[in-house]
Amino acid sequence: MSDVDANRADVVIAGGGQVGLALAVALRTAAPNLAVTVIDAGDPAARKRATRASTIAAGGRHLLERLGVWPEIAGEAEPVTSMTVTDSRTGDTVRPVFLTFDPGAGSDGPGAHVVADGVVVDALYRRARALGAEVREATRIDGYEDEGARLVCRTDAGDRLAARLVIAADGRRSKLRELAGIATVGWSYGQSGIVATLAHEHPHGGRAEEHFLPGGPFALLPMKGLRSSLVWTEPTELAERLVAMRPLVLGDELARRAGRRLGRIEIVEGPRHFPLGLSLARSFVAPRLALAGDAAHGMHPLAGQGLNLGYRDVAALAETLVDAHRLGLDLGDLNVLERYDRWRRFDTVEMLAVTDVLNRLFANDNPAMRLIRDIGLGVVDRLPAVKERLAAEARGDTATAPRLLRGMAL
Ligand SMILES: Cc1cc2nc3c(=O)[nH]c(=O)nc-3n(C[C@H](O)[C@H](O)[C@H](O)COP(=O)(O)OP(=O)(O)OC[C@H]3O[C@@H](n4cnc5c(N)ncnc54)[C@H](O)[C@@H]3O)c2cc1C
Repeated sequence: MSDVDANRADVVIAGGGQVGLALAVALRTAAPNLAVTVIDAGDPAARKRATRASTIAAGGRHLLERLGVWPEIAGEAEPVTSMTVTDSRTGDTVRPVFLTFDPGAGSDGPGAHVVADGVVVDALYRRARALGAEVREATRIDGYEDEGARLVCRTDAGDRLAARLVIAADGRRSKLRELAGIATVGWSYGQSGIVATLAHEHPHGGRAEEHFLPGGPFALLPMKGLRSSLVWTEPTELAERLVAMRPLVLGDELARRAGRRLGRIEIVEGPRHFPLGLSLARSFVAPRLALAGDAAHGMHPLAGQGLNLGYRDVAALAETLVDAHRLGLDLGDLNVLERYDRWRRFDTVEMLAVTDVLNRLFANDNPAMRLIRDIGLGVVDRLPAVKERLAAEARGDTATAPRLLRGMAL
């Protein structure tokens, strides 16, 4: 069919969020002869205006360095120099500290940075274009036909686009995952995360803090200057009421939870709220299709790991595909894609389980549960070996970590 042949790529990526664009950049950097097209449903004008910020662990930073975008991002990224976790009640003036991390302990710079999502997406978008990836915005993929040797995607603009491999990086409600008939397991937490950017009176000193309050975790993440990113979890009904409140009343509720360390606080962006849940695709691959990022897994943001897992998917999938391409293999072949599925499944399930257990353990005010969890966290704090293992995972410093996470070229 001529219209199909006129629109052909080796790889089509559905979704131009951080995961989809990072994949496009990784593939074009290591294999410039691969034709890569990214189709993104989002509004281009909104790209830089994301209210959300993310904590990027050292492994993710290594990947962004290798992709050549970190120099553009670094000026907007605040290093996290310490992290404090408390188990407290709303309004507590003294909050016993149960877990401390020093993410600055790594030999190659800070263990984590906080940066606005829009800054990263914009840098990746420009890099993908500069490397010759085609990026079509404000267009969604809403169907495809399986022609055996290729999938032919249909967009809402009426275009048809054929590829040997389609990557679904189209977020938590992935249309491509649904079209492929890949089921998910998971549940809603009945909670929502309220996010906003805050301006405050006193410096944060690079300290991230998370208070496990009965409604859910309340986290303040340091951003550049006198600003912090808020991720505040509450039962969904309360979160909706809070976001709809007049700014003065909401500011009061916020101040009760934030304590006095940062002085006067003002919301400068947001608030917005996102429903929270756990989801895991039963398979990350199907013939000629691979899932990456939130399309493959969704988790509670309490450990700030959703995007970091997505970056690990990017590194493992790019390595799998580039290795196969060098051997002249068909990138959409299920035998090729299964290497990626095996690589990512265990790590993903482990992280989903950890965040799920922590949320269940903490999101209540039962005194017996308080005692158990406080002992548990205190124990972790006194076990340097356990803390080091968690930190090594985050740095990409393990034997099974893909090359990009370890700062190596593909
Ligand atoms: C409150 C909150 C706080 C968080 N904080 C952190 C944190 O501190 N650290 C961390 O690591 N993670 C964090 N996360 C998780 C992180 O935000 C996500 O894991 C990450 O954004 C997922 O990126 P993605 O590219 O997979 O998906 P998305 O960012 O959702 O991007 C998907 C893209 O696909 C496009 N799209 C959708 N459907 C289609 C279609 N049919 N065709 C074409 N395009 C389509 C969309 O327009 C979008 O651009 C947080 C999440 C929440 C909810």
